[in-house]
Amino acid sequence: MTSQTLPSATTTAAGLTFDSVAMRFPDGTQAVQEASFSVTPGEFVSIVGPSGCGKSTLLKITAGLLDATGGEVTIGDGNLGYVFQDATLLPWRTVRGNVELLGELEGMGKAERRTAAQEAIDLVGLNGFEDKYPKSLSGGMKMRASLARSLTLKPKTFLFDEPFGALDEITRERLNDELLALFERERFAGLFITHSIAEAVFLSTRVLVMSARPGRIVGDFPVPFAYPRRPELRFEPEFAELSGRVSEALRGAFA
Ligand code: ADP
Repeated sequence: MTSQTLPSATTTAAGLTFDSVAMRFPDGTQAVQEASFSVTPGEFVSIVGPSGCGKSTLLKITAGLLDATGGEVTIGDGNLGYVFQDATLLPWRTVRGNVELLGELEGMGKAERRTAAQEAIDLVGLNGFEDKYPKSLSGGMKMRASLARSLTLKPKTFLFDEPFGALDEITRERLNDELLALFERERFAGLFITHSIAEAVFLSTRVLVMSARPGRIVGDFPVPFAYPRRPELRFEPEFAELSGRVSEALRGAFA
């Protein structure tokens, strides 16, 4: 996992634009079909959809790990950060060593790197754990370290591929609250993939629903709740009502 500015991308002001993006793998699998949407700075867009509908493929195209076979992804100014489901920490490095990694790869000076890493470690609540090795961290702490590593390059656009999918519900909710606080502070353009409707609605300014493969965007739900969002929002009737509508669209997407 790394964070970078993609040289091949067309540069615009900021955020992401997907214009009729399609992906057909060499074996003939049509994973994504005609995906068109945009994510502007200050927007946090989640995508929910059936397993195998092409969500990860869309993120990998954005991250430059795959080349789309149709359409275009335009990536705005600034660094692109990404966090995947697996924290991918180097086991022989401490938390600090792992968080400093991207700065090192980008050729940042030692002092600057150290400052950026400490700031990110503080932001994700890992202070006091700087000298610990990954094996002594819980799953939630590993994800915090992974998030901190991406934060050191102050990304203007952030991609999340089910980062909390493997965590227990309480840890996941706590990390959702913390990610939300981070988003409110940094206001990057966020694209988040999840299987959880509650997570999508709680975090996002918009929730997109993708159809079964080949994935197309079949639902677009603006989320009207103002930030900052309190954890109790999850239990309010408006939250349940919107989650219900997304769920209904998702059930249609399996058809
Ligand atoms: P999701 O993230 O929505 O679960 P993916 O984007 O991982 O789905 O995969 C979409 C579809 O593309 C799946 O059917 C998957 O099996 C297929 N796929 C993914 N990678 C490849 C590949 N390299 N070659 C062929 N098919 C692939």
